[in-house]
Amino acid sequence: MKNISKLYIDGQWEEWSGETLPVHEAATGEVLAQVPAASRDEMNRAIEAANRAFESWSESSMDERLKVLKQLHAGLKERSEEIAEAVSREVGMPLKLARQIQAGMPAAITASYLEMLPSFPFTEKVGNSEVQYTPVGVVGCITPWNYPLHQVILKVVPALAAGCTVVLKPSEIAPTTAYILAEILDGTDLPAGCFNLVSGLGQVVGDALIRHPDVSMVSFTGSTRTGHLVAHAAADDFKRYALEMGGKSASVILPDADLKAAVKGTVSNCLLNSGQTCTALTRMLVPEDRHDEACQLAAEAVAKMTPGNPMEETTRLGPLASAEQRDRVLDFIRIGVNDGATLVTGGPEAPDGLSEGYFVKATVFGNVKPDSKIAQEEIFGPVLCVIPYRDEEEAIRIANGTAYGLSGAVWSGDDGKARKVAGKLRTGQVFVNGGAFNPLAPFGGFGHSGVGREFGKWGLEEFLEVRSLQL
Ligand code: NAD
Repeated sequence: MKNISKLYIDGQWEEWSGETLPVHEAATGEVLAQVPAASRDEMNRAIEAANRAFESWSESSMDERLKVLKQLHAGLKERSEEIAEAVSREVGMPLKLARQIQAGMPAAITASYLEMLPSFPFTEKVGNSEVQYTPVGVVGCITPWNYPLHQVILKVVPALAAGCTVVLKPSEIAPTTAYILAEILDGTDLPAGCFNLVSGLGQVVGDALIRHPDVSMVSFTGSTRTGHLVAHAAADDFKRYALEMGGKSASVILPDADLKAAVKGTVSNCLLNSGQTCTALTRMLVPEDRHDEACQLAAEAVAKMTPGNPMEETTRLGPLASAEQRDRVLDFIRIGVNDGATLVTGGPEAPDGLSEGYFVKATVFGNVKPDSKIAQEEIFGPVLCVIPYRDEEEAIRIANGTAYGLSGAVWSGDDGKARKVAGKLRTGQVFVNGGAFNPLAPFGGFGHSGVGREFGKWGLEEFLEVRSLQL
């Protein structure tokens, strides 16, 4: 077991001898590491350090910022295997995929900002005015556990690139890669105080971070429930905030689509990271006369997702990240059965031979009613709801019929038609006929899924205030 008994404040590693929080291995339930459960005092000191550092970092040159980002990028590449393994163990994503996504995305996103920054227009001429984009101030970053380093990087990199200073409060369930990030940044030329890491409970250090008057902005990714608290606290002090929250995304399969390809694409998206993905396509909308065929195809696709220990090469479906999350998902599966949905495959029993750890069977429900609990609430586990519809109008109404709006998909034999339907979905992104994920495109939600956008130039703009000089 790893004992991480330190916090990173004002460019220094501080020894921690207070209470700690256990980090569990998803596949076995064993304690992998202990991290500090810091108190409000440590958080306040980290914010003070970030506030002091803001004065000079906000005036740093483009070259200084690029140098730090280049050093960070090199460090992320160098430690990528360690990052992939840590996330596989904490979160449960199969190692092969974790290498590509959990370690690959942080490096790719850092590279995207390195490329974009030199040409980003920090000033603009509008008539007789010069418009200046200036760093917003100290940014408090609060992140979840499902893509733990990726979600941190999406905040820390553009915030530092914009000239902001940062205090990070990572998830208590998967905090160890935030420590790897702090170690990498400690080895760069980033001045002391620009990046601070304080681990601990949301209700303690997270709460201190969202309420501190010297924090100008809170950038939050996590549940809609916590996002609500963040928005209220920010409103009390007129802080800026960006929220990336939950989803219940619909995959709309139109009657002229290649059903087999569409079901396969939807199932693999839904089960990515065992369904612990905010953008997961968890509702599959199919023409009612093809419902049974679609369920059959979904069951066949699920059967290929061999569950097992994520560290083994043959595993396609890992466990969930925590016992609490597993139990929550199992409750939803029981609710689905009780509400009368058809259990096509899966169910609330542990997969064969996997009674240790936080495993849940990949589950498909058919004949799901659009307004039932399992079709309305984010389950955040390997559960797909197949919902039949009568016509295109009804499909669009069902797709838009939740409080969320993070992602979606449309499948059709006619690209023009697919794009037309995609344009009617009240959601932040839509995959048209299996279009590839683009890290330069804006990412964020409508409604209860979020406020603001991450990735690309939109992700950088979140951390900039606007000043106009009338000349
Ligand atoms: P969560 O809301 O429980 O926790 C997120 C973070 O908030 C953690 O660091 C936690 O410690 C902190 N927190 C908890 N209570 C707090 C409080 N009172 N004050 C301040 N901070 C507090 O979410 P989770 O369970 O870690 O993550 C899963 C959720 O995240 C899902 O709903 C998922 O959809 C969402 N998510 C969204 C995106 C996106 O980009 N839209 C990406 C990933 C995950």
